[in-house]
Amino acid sequence: MRVLVVEDDIPLATILERGLVEDGYAVDLAHRVVDAHHAALSNEYDVVVLDLGLPDGNGLDLCAELRAEGYVVPILMLTARDSLSDKVSGLDSGADDYLTKPFDYPELAARLRALIRRPADSRSPVFEVGELRLDPASRRVWLGAIVVPLTSREFSLLEYLMSRPTDVVSRTDLLEHVWDANYDGMSNVVDVHIANLRRKLAGPGGTATIETVRGAGYRLCADDTSRDEQNEGVE
Ligand code: CA
Repeated sequence: MRVLVVEDDIPLATILERGLVEDGYAVDLAHRVVDAHHAALSNEYDVVVLDLGLPDGNGLDLCAELRAEGYVVPILMLTARDSLSDKVSGLDSGADDYLTKPFDYPELAARLRALIRRPADSRSPVFEVGELRLDPASRRVWLGAIVVPLTSREFSLLEYLMSRPTDVVSRTDLLEHVWDANYDGMSNVVDVHIANLRRKLAGPGGTATIETVRGAGYRLCADDTSRDEQNEGVE
């Protein structure tokens, strides 16, 4: 999952970035309204963290402007004071939630998880496909009863695929949602990580398969629903 953090307080932005990266998010930072606006429209984010007071404008105005442009990505507003009018204005401007400074990182992380999960199914936090289960909160993955050790990037990749079961997800989509703007640029970076994931998910009890859909991307499905794309000599 990829998050845009708009915060001009550099030490705070750095703390948030560190925590989010540790939690497996791809993170882009913006410190001004103009950069945030550009980043939001150029990249595919799963959630935006938006500070209220920015050097070249106001987070409320940016939020309202983005919504007026049809921007639907969830936005968590950071407000400096525990002021009712700030909260009301934040929600009026189209923010989905707000958090009052100072806050603890775990609270921010929980709010983000809730926002990202909301559109799909707010009551089913654990993703399941076949025997494969993934818990975004504890960042653990199981095949049946066995824990599958994954790197942070593999986890993020699998989380994105599992959040869209049976959808075909393109390489571009995966790059946009799992890698940040500074990814190393290797053209086959997605394929390399998919190959590693496949190997780890192919163990005993592995009934979930990442299919290659020719010319389109990848699809995660339980084995019993596998289609024929794999027989077409792909890869
Ligand atoms: Ca600020």
